[in-house]
Amino acid sequence: MFALTGLLVAGLAYPPAQLTLGTLVATVVANQMGGIAPDIDEPTAPFWRNLPLAGWLGKSVTKLLGGHRFLTHSLIGLILTGLLVNWFLNLLQPIMPRIDITIVWWGFMIGMLSHLIIDMFTKEGVPWLLPIPVKFGFPPIRAWRITTGKNFETFVLFPALLLINVVYCMLHYQQIVAIFHQF
Ligand SMILES: [Zn+2]
Repeated sequence: MFALTGLLVAGLAYPPAQLTLGTLVATVVANQMGGIAPDIDEPTAPFWRNLPLAGWLGKSVTKLLGGHRFLTHSLIGLILTGLLVNWFLNLLQPIMPRIDITIVWWGFMIGMLSHLIIDMFTKEGVPWLLPIPVKFGFPPIRAWRITTGKNFETFVLFPALLLINVVYCMLHYQQIVAIFHQF
């Protein structure tokens, strides 16, 4: 949900000159994938839960990436993933010529960045500067941060973000209508 908030804010602040429906759909999908991508390092993540052999595969990937909230939750991880996604999108470009892969790439990156930002509000913090092993969080006092997976997330944070998105869309209604008129 926070990934979507980021995409909305960025998309309306820097509206693309041209946007096809295909690009919009691909960008939203990429944005949501970027939003869950960093937790590829967590064997119990939604990412793995629905895959066959998930337990085994999830644990192997976790080990490979250095455990939960490690490489994929850092600046280096963000840059490496950005390069990988860029390579992958360029590979796919020939089969989707009408899709603007630069916009799709930004959708993914905004999703991933939003994940790292919101993880900072949890007790674990985020090791932004790996290999320097310091975890950053907000507020700096750990006890004031939220615990991952608790009721606060489901019943307060998620509805609050949903509401923010809806209100934001209402405030920018004309601009959003104009985007849809392009299709
Ligand atoms: Zn995470």
